[in-house]
Amino acid sequence: EQKKLQRLKFSPTQTLCGHKIALCANIELPEDARAAVDAGAVGVGLFRTEFLFMNQKGGLPEEEEQFAAYRQAVELMGGLPVTIRTIDVGADKPLDAMSGDGYETAPNPALGLRAIRWSLSEPQMFLTQLRAILRASAYGQVRILVPMLAHAQEIDQTLDLIHEAKRQLDEAGLTYDPGVRIGAMIEIPAAAIALPLFLKRLDFLSIGTNDLIQYTLAIDRADNSVAHLYDPLHPAVLHLIAFTLREAKRVGVPVSICGEMAGDPQLTRLLLGMGLTEFSMHPSQLLEVKQEILRADLRALEKPVADVLAAFEPGELQAALKRVAEV
Ligand code: PEP
Ligand code: MG
Repeated sequence: EQKKLQRLKFSPTQTLCGHKIALCANIELPEDARAAVDAGAVGVGLFRTEFLFMNQKGGLPEEEEQFAAYRQAVELMGGLPVTIRTIDVGADKPLDAMSGDGYETAPNPALGLRAIRWSLSEPQMFLTQLRAILRASAYGQVRILVPMLAHAQEIDQTLDLIHEAKRQLDEAGLTYDPGVRIGAMIEIPAAAIALPLFLKRLDFLSIGTNDLIQYTLAIDRADNSVAHLYDPLHPAVLHLIAFTLREAKRVGVPVSICGEMAGDPQLTRLLLGMGLTEFSMHPSQLLEVKQEILRADLRALEKPVADVLAAFEPGELQAALKRVAEV
């Protein structure tokens, strides 16, 4: 079976009916890009940069160190797009340097000063990261992805800071790709529901289902005592995903999914039927998902997937999901 999967590596990723699908990789360290290329990924859909920050005793990595890490990932991908997410710390990913901000005593870290909220509260730190990412864009195809946005003002402040980082690089005579594209994670229900704010301001979107599920269902993703209620197939979650895919597609803004759902082969048909054309996942999942894509017929999926989205009662939903798996 493993051998059979390996053979899929070199075939193009498309559905049985001929629709091209992009499979990208999630990476956490620059050298993970090797595994991404090995698995046949057509890009990095999510580079979780917080891992560069988390293993640092005393302080944050300097601009040069960050630049070297981002550049390494970009060069390893050899011209394929690399989506670099700005630091996403807090809650399940605490940072030594955050102590002293009263962070440990925050009443609810998952709802607190984390991810882009923390970056906007530390503009010098954020500008350092943005300059490092922009400088790496001179070596390949870089896209900037911003986590945990919900408010128009947060998007605008972020775009202003990116503009400022570019100005600083111009002043220093350092090169970058002036057309670098900027996107948002859709991982707070408010962002999905108020999607026009994002579609108007950004170049692309990536749905972070891990947090979208957590915040939609009010289930702490790190709390085992409620893990049985963490349900990717809750109708509310499916509706937020379907709405985001549909609206982004309608106005021509590229959208991918980079949460765990994208790497679960049991959900591949459902996501394809909901209109997903770009998946990003751990490299080890890529061939199994690809196998599902090669066998999928989008026309045949239309009706059963519509039935899934029309179902609210658990029994109905299960029956519709079964039909999706069987077509
Ligand atoms: C997500 O929330 O789905 C996601 C991809 O980001 P992370 O798991 O790093 O929060
Ligand atoms: Mg997230």
